[in-house]
Amino acid sequence: MPGTCILSLDCESKWGMADALSAAHDAQFTNDSIADIYQWLLARFEQTGIPATYAFVGAMTTPQETFVNDWLPQLTANPEHAAWLARLIQDIRDNQVDGWFVPSVLDEIQSASVPHEIATHGFTHLPMQNISEASLALEAAGINDWAARNALELKTLIYPRHYVDMRLLEAVPSLLGYREHPYNGKDPDLRIKLGNLAGEFYPFPPSRRDVSTLTRPAIIPVNFFLNWRAGARRWVPTSLTVQRFRHALAHAAKHDGVVHWWFHPHNLMTGKDQRALFEQCLALLHDAKESRRIEVMTQIQYLESKAPQRVA
Ligand SMILES: [Zn+2]
Repeated sequence: MPGTCILSLDCESKWGMADALSAAHDAQFTNDSIADIYQWLLARFEQTGIPATYAFVGAMTTPQETFVNDWLPQLTANPEHAAWLARLIQDIRDNQVDGWFVPSVLDEIQSASVPHEIATHGFTHLPMQNISEASLALEAAGINDWAARNALELKTLIYPRHYVDMRLLEAVPSLLGYREHPYNGKDPDLRIKLGNLAGEFYPFPPSRRDVSTLTRPAIIPVNFFLNWRAGARRWVPTSLTVQRFRHALAHAAKHDGVVHWWFHPHNLMTGKDQRALFEQCLALLHDAKESRRIEVMTQIQYLESKAPQRVA
């Protein structure tokens, strides 16, 4: 049996940092730059035939007018959303919304020749850390509305900032499972961040065993973040990250393991030499796929392949 590689993408543009946007973000995150980087990435998948799970913040691919008319009043009236989206609400008032609404990227992924999975990463990226019933209901309603407008049947979920809230799976019944917390911890505090950074220097990471819970909710293992070459992380040599990925894939091929590779598409425009790093890793994955050492799956293909009769 070949090993398995899953590639999932947290697609969020400014929404993922709604509470921490800087002037540098405003300069980098424009509708054009986001559309460009998603096109660049999609073209690499078209060239290699590699499918990915694109987990979107629904509001990011909602037309601005639809969002403002149908969602903004409700969200503004809900205290947790009003706090999370304070910067967006101001930007809409100031008519400075570049980098928030980019519906074209979803259309392009849906019309690609490679069958990518579209998953959900929340409606507004509100972190589900002890949120109220009203906030949970609004996120779920937003996700369901986004899915209906775009004719999507959402099967998998990536929680914003990895805060797991089972109520969301109940409120979006088509969802079968979610990607596990990548750091095996709770809050991404400094100790965990330092541990993660140290891990980037370990050249021989193993693959994961297939440990999914195969009944709903299924938990999808994750283990390989494409090092984002910014801040202290830019000192991790690209050659080392490539070596780590090569090792993880070889381990998966040998032990019937899983390598779940993940990153944010916008990292490709904000990390130093990030695109070259991605292309080198993608070439390794393409080779492993062509030589049948690794089977590349989306999150839902992974769940369905493991136990189709038990995922229901
Ligand atoms: Zn996110």
